[in-house]
Order: sequence, then C-alpha cells, then structure tokens
Amino acid sequence: MVIDRVPFVDLGRQFKALENRLCEGFVAIGRSGQFILGEQVEAFEERVARYCGTRYAVSCANGSDALFLSLKALSISADDEVIIPVNSFIATAWVVVATGATPRFVDVGYDMNIDVNALDRAFTAKTRAIIPVHLTGRPAAMAEVMSFAQSRGLLVIEDAAQAIGASLRGKRVGGFGVAAGFSLHPLKNLGVLGDGGFITTSDAGLNERLIKLRNHGLRDRNHCELWGYNSRLDAIQAFIACEKLNHLDDWNNRCREIADQYRLGLEGLVEVPKDRQGEYCVYHNFVIRTPRRDELRDHLALLNIGTNVHYPIPLHLQEAAATLGHVMGDFPQAERFAQTMLSLPIFPELSDAEVQYVIQGVQSFFNRTALDRS
Ligand SMILES: *Cc1c(COP(=O)(O)O)cnc(C)c1O
Repeated sequence: MVIDRVPFVDLGRQFKALENRLCEGFVAIGRSGQFILGEQVEAFEERVARYCGTRYAVSCANGSDALFLSLKALSISADDEVIIPVNSFIATAWVVVATGATPRFVDVGYDMNIDVNALDRAFTAKTRAIIPVHLTGRPAAMAEVMSFAQSRGLLVIEDAAQAIGASLRGKRVGGFGVAAGFSLHPLKNLGVLGDGGFITTSDAGLNERLIKLRNHGLRDRNHCELWGYNSRLDAIQAFIACEKLNHLDDWNNRCREIADQYRLGLEGLVEVPKDRQGEYCVYHNFVIRTPRRDELRDHLALLNIGTNVHYPIPLHLQEAAATLGHVMGDFPQAERFAQTMLSLPIFPELSDAEVQYVIQGVQSFFNRTALDRS
C-alpha cells in the first residue's frame, strides 16, 4: 500500500485492535449495574499503583483533577505559591489558581523540562510546593528538584500526565514526589474512551484524604467529613485502563522505536530529542526543533502529514495569566522553543512505512531548500 498521508494521531486504530475484548467488558459492566467507583475501579487503582511503584493510587475524573485534588489534600491555598514550568499544558497552571494559590513560573531548560537552576530565583517565603512536569514523557530532573525541595521544605507534586511508564535510573515517575497526577485522556500513553485520571502516593494519610475529597468529602454514605468534590472514575473507564495497562509497556517501547527511527532519519537536519543517561522516555510527543518550523509545518501539511505544536503559547503569556504581570522576554528559553518546536506523529499503531513517509517529508523540505539556495 502506498502511503500518501500520516495522521498526527488516530485513536480508532487502538480501539479496533482491542475491540472484541473491550466490548465483552462493556456488556459485563452493563449487566453488573456498578457504573461509578466499585470493584473495577479498585482493581485498576491497585494495579496502577503497583505499576508506578507507589503504595496507593486514587482514581478521579481527569488528570487536571488529579493535580488539583492533590494540592487541595495538601492544603495548598490562598497566600501560598507553587512553582511550575512555563512550557506545559494549561492545566498545570489553572489547578494552582483554582486552589487560590499563585503560580510562580520558571523557565525550562534545554531538555524542555523545569530549569532546576531557576528554582532558587522563584523561591519566596510563600513558596509551598513545586510541580515538575514530565513533559512529552521525559522525566524532569527529579534528583535536583527533590534535593532543592528538601532543602527548602517544599512539597513536590509531579505532573505525570504525559509520562506513565517513564523512568529515571530505574525508578518510574509518580514515585518521586509526595503525590503525582496522571491523566487517562484518550491522547495520553494510557488513554481510555473518555476522561479519567489518578493520583499516586505512598502517604497513607494523603491517600485517605484523596479518597474522601474526590467523593463529596464523604467518609461513608451519610457522613461528610470535609467539603469535597465530585471527581470519580467510571467502572467502564477503569476496565479499559486495566486492559490497556497490559499493553502499555509494549506501546511505550513501540513509541521509543519510532523515536529511534526519527532520530536516525532526521538528526543533522533538525534538533531531535534523545534519552540521556539513566532516562527512559516514553515519547508521548516527539518534539523536533528548527528555526524554520512554520515553513516545515506547511510543507508537511502539503504531504498530508499531521503535526502539532506543544505548546505555541507559554503559560506566562496566556491571556488568563495577564494578572500575574509577565511580559515577553521573561522566560526566553520557553519563548524560543514556542517558535521552533514541532511535534511529529508518534503513536504505537503507526507503521514503519508511515514513519518513513514522515522522515522523507522532512528530508524533502531541507533538500528542496538546499537546491533552491544552490
Ligand atoms: C493532559 C495534561 C493534563 C491534564 O489532564 P486532563 O486529563 O486532560 O485533565 C495536565 N498536565 C499535562 C502536562 C497534560 O498533558
């Protein structure tokens, strides 16, 4: 089959591969009558905690809530400041604002994750926590983040929404901070057929508070211990997540294979991400960098190759962040990346032929311009 297009993502492919098994489960859950929380959800929580190497996992409605509930359970509130990197999905920032606390932005380093050298400058007497983001499935520099946090008495809540299965010197993300938020959004490496998320922690007290907070603050059916939220996972989504967890390592390895192919074909033409010593990245996104990003993106679009930018507007320059008083120039590295980053298609169901089509598409852009210039 001749390849003449490559979608940025195609979620239908994964569903089709698991369709029979999933449909059997849908029927079983439908007949069971247990649709929210319950056994299926508890089974998922137990399994995913084991997978992430933590004592507990508490599921909830989405990855944003996983972070928000963690902050609430840790009593982050007005007058507190929380340090976050400026290159992330907007949820990393709003969850802080939603607690009443103020986000303190820091730039990202060359690895596109939180710049550990900038933590000291962002620190004030009001700082209570840091949210390092394992962006694109690359672990943030957790040894440095943890030692800074320990020296200042700060809480660390990992934003692991893009990084399930990623590890640093053999330790999986989710187990470094006091808590970590994961997303089960369909686009994430472990994605369900709707919204979902979970928090990992090894702190028994925090686990108990989270279990109440996500379910109206209820201790049991009739006793409300604290004002809570309605942020629960459906049995169907928990079942899907359990089924997919069986395949996650294979899928992550397939994404790593695709990343290898991209590196082989594109190194020298554009900047490509690489695993550094001790890192096991799961490539939620494969982000290349080139000063000619927009032209390259147009060229690939003409070849029917889907691309994306994660993220074109750094958090401090978002309209919603205007009251925080930042201006262009405050975080130069992230601002430069916003102009030069391009995400190429990467998902486990992508075929080698499709990956080669993307590589040839990028190569043809640079060859053509080389010819134009000669
Ligand atoms: C997806 C994502 C979230 C939020 O997850 P949802 O399930 O969409 O609420 C938070 N942080 C990062 C970095 C993400 O990529």
